[in-house]
Amino acid sequence: MRLTDHDLKQLSQEYLASLSAEQLLRLSGKMLEDLRDARDRLNQTPQNSSRPSGSYAPWQQAAFSDKEKPSEATEEVAKPGPKPEKKANATEPLDKSATSSERSKRKAGKQPGVKGVGRQVEMAVTGEVVHQPTECAACGEPLGDSTPFQVTTGLYVLDIERSQQGLQVTHVKHLYGQRPCPCGHVSQTKPGSCPDEPGWTVALTEWHLVGPMLAALIICLSLRMRLSRPRIREFLQDWLGVVLSVGCIHQCLTEGGRAVAPVEDELVADVQQSELLHADETGWKESGRTVWLWVLRSATTTLYIIGRRSWDVIANVMEHFGGWLMSDGYGQYRHYGKRLRCLAHIIRKARGLAESCHPAAAEFGQNVLQTVAQVIEGIYLARGDPTMDLPEKFAPELAQLQTTCEQHRDHPHQKTRQLARELLNDWTALWQVLAYPNLPITNNVAEQALRHWVIARKINHGTRTAEGSRAYTLLASVIDTCRQRGILPWPYIAQVIAERRQGKAPPPIPQAVA
Ligand SMILES: [Zn+2]
Repeated sequence: MRLTDHDLKQLSQEYLASLSAEQLLRLSGKMLEDLRDARDRLNQTPQNSSRPSGSYAPWQQAAFSDKEKPSEATEEVAKPGPKPEKKANATEPLDKSATSSERSKRKAGKQPGVKGVGRQVEMAVTGEVVHQPTECAACGEPLGDSTPFQVTTGLYVLDIERSQQGLQVTHVKHLYGQRPCPCGHVSQTKPGSCPDEPGWTVALTEWHLVGPMLAALIICLSLRMRLSRPRIREFLQDWLGVVLSVGCIHQCLTEGGRAVAPVEDELVADVQQSELLHADETGWKESGRTVWLWVLRSATTTLYIIGRRSWDVIANVMEHFGGWLMSDGYGQYRHYGKRLRCLAHIIRKARGLAESCHPAAAEFGQNVLQTVAQVIEGIYLARGDPTMDLPEKFAPELAQLQTTCEQHRDHPHQKTRQLARELLNDWTALWQVLAYPNLPITNNVAEQALRHWVIARKINHGTRTAEGSRAYTLLASVIDTCRQRGILPWPYIAQVIAERRQGKAPPPIPQAVA
């Protein structure tokens, strides 16, 4: 909005009549733009904007309810060969390591009756910034020093500066106020803020004690250093003398997620345009419920999404992707045609069988191991010699293995049967790499990306709300993408928070430094 409520209240017929033609033209230009924005906002529906379907009136919602609320049965689809950390079951106690306070029904945060911790302003003020209006908000004339500036509001901002001397804590007093114009209009400055956005309840505004760089440090301590909120509070107090409540730290983390949200479109587009994508998923906790943390990783971008274990969660991204998809054997990935399978998974399972005491299982495991080993050796050779025709070279071995798998698909030994079926189900995806030997043979890239967050989940028990999960994955995506591109994430995140608190669009993530 070009004219604030404060400006609008001052405008009247008398005022308009007093303006020159040029001043009127400037003012009506602003009014026209504001009117267009207001009209567009009035006409927004969930179909033509990012408004959630919850913004429909209750009687309009019925048509959506089927789509929006999938049955619980689709939530947790069992996967062949579960990883140990995926065994979590919603009916079991959350986690063996959960504290007694977590197991009880106690709500997170300050308990009723407990003495609250107010802000103790003990830190000396290190600077003062006066925000003066520079031009008239109505007629557009520049405002000189000839008229008096009257302070109307002020706030303190705690922040940190990274310099060659190290880390410096700043505590700056910001003053805002008003100045009259010779035309009669009074122009005003006030702290910036971002208008409401669908899906977010946390405010994004300069009305905040915590400055952008301090907020970025809190994000670093939480997501990269995996500290709990009380530990972050302890660290800031003990090492920087900055006293913040756990609630304030929590709010900074959610606000940071909201700030970087518009950057996600750019990450999605990057992932969609890539030639090769690694995908993986692992169990996650959201207020004690089991959900899934997905990762999609290209050569330059990492995207995390928390949601159900269903193709729907990544369908929007995958719909516009045309490259190769490397994944594990989870059945949902079979929605996608141009697929590669991680051979390391197959080797691990085959090795387990080869070491089995069951003679038939051991023989089948040996068989698979041998063929995969030959194939991998061939791929390494072909990478140095592009004239090799691997599909033709390995046709007899693969035909042999396929027959063996067919013979074992109903084998009484469970693990043997499972591996035989897994190989048959993903047959094309598994051996695709023979025709394109320069493509990868393992999914290490995605598995490594998830490892950090699996440890974070074990320490901090996941996230508590849908909004918290969204903020968490948005920040995780931005942090890991920056790191992948060789860029320090924290100054970038601080810059995004600063711009977004003023209601501006965030800068894009810089491309990799060559
Ligand atoms: Zn004026």
